[in-house]
Amino acid sequence: MQERYLAERIRGTSTTIFTEMSRLATQYQAVNLGQAFPDFPGFHLAKEAACDAITRDLNQYALMHGQATLRHALAEHSRRFYAMELDPDAHITVTCGATEAVFAAILGVINPGDEVILFEPFYDSYLPAVRMAGGKARVVTLRPPDFRVPADELRAAFGPRTRAIIVNTPHNPTGHVFTRQELALIAELCHAHDVVAITDEVYEHIVFDGHRHLRLASLPGMWERTITISSAGKTFSLTGWKVGWAITPAHLAPAVRRTHQFITFAGATPLQEAIAVALRAGDDYFEALRRDYQARRDFMLDLFAQIGLPAYVPEGTYFVLVDIGETDFPDDVAFCRHLVTEVGVAAIPPTAFYINKHEGRHLVRFTFCKRWATLEAAAERLIRLRG
Ligand code: PMP
Ligand code: GLN
Repeated sequence: MQERYLAERIRGTSTTIFTEMSRLATQYQAVNLGQAFPDFPGFHLAKEAACDAITRDLNQYALMHGQATLRHALAEHSRRFYAMELDPDAHITVTCGATEAVFAAILGVINPGDEVILFEPFYDSYLPAVRMAGGKARVVTLRPPDFRVPADELRAAFGPRTRAIIVNTPHNPTGHVFTRQELALIAELCHAHDVVAITDEVYEHIVFDGHRHLRLASLPGMWERTITISSAGKTFSLTGWKVGWAITPAHLAPAVRRTHQFITFAGATPLQEAIAVALRAGDDYFEALRRDYQARRDFMLDLFAQIGLPAYVPEGTYFVLVDIGETDFPDDVAFCRHLVTEVGVAAIPPTAFYINKHEGRHLVRFTFCKRWATLEAAAERLIRLRG
């Protein structure tokens, strides 16, 4: 393929690391702990509700900003979990997954030349989205062992050109759940520099050990300047449905809606109806989700302890980072290549989530959103790494 036919905005990007690692997993029949998608059934109430919506012939275009039933359910969800009162019409826009919401928000807020602060490692779609909008990324690195926000470095990253900051909590791939103190610092700097915050909270319901997910938008003075993004994929184990949303004050809704209406216009109607039902699940559903993932996390931590690979304990999400700095492998890519071809387990080399590659070359990401049988099969293979 001749590069010259490609627009400049996509030069230098390639197939995502998730697609690449899943391809290798299939090729080498490896157990896939790379790309994160549950291999167990999604939430049954959501599936039944989707079939029902299709049968009731809710099969035409959804409203541009989302089906009313879903927006009302999302308003209820915000009241129930965050004591936030939302207007379903003014404040909520439904998108095709969080990925579209992030992209729409960035296109709707960033002008060419604007700076956008990202925490590194970052979810892989943020950087291309910023660049496609003509923005410039300023990265602040979260470092092991606890991946806390380095206050001085964050302060130094804010400047006269800063237009937005992207905050992902609970954080993929480190598993860090941002504390109130960290969010308060971000809030203080957003105020001081008149910056918009875009938050990605897709793992909001997957937090461990009594950690609590906090919404940046709920901090004093942050509602007016925050676009809160989440989706149904992780919470209901339905990553293929791509039902996401953005919560904004009324004056920021156009940042998402005017872009969303020309990117996809609307997401799948029956799936939106079904997620409205799922969001009203009892507390037992949300508690079981947390408990099940915490048990899987502990299984992985125990496995890495047996192997002798240091692992950083995730406070949330379904990822665990291990440190391969003491192994004989030169970097994460070499380690992951060996793992998938020789050991039969796929993982993700996190340098894909870094601009400063040297910061991530000693780390490898494993997901544990898999059936016990899958995790056990992976464990049987990984144990061979024991030094
Ligand atoms: N943000 C983060 C941090 C993620 O890990 C993912 C994973 N899929 C997404 C966004 C994408 O969400 P969705 O599938 O709803 O687009
Ligand atoms: N969010 C998933 C992960 O982090 C992958 C999503 C994708 O394949 N784009 O593994």
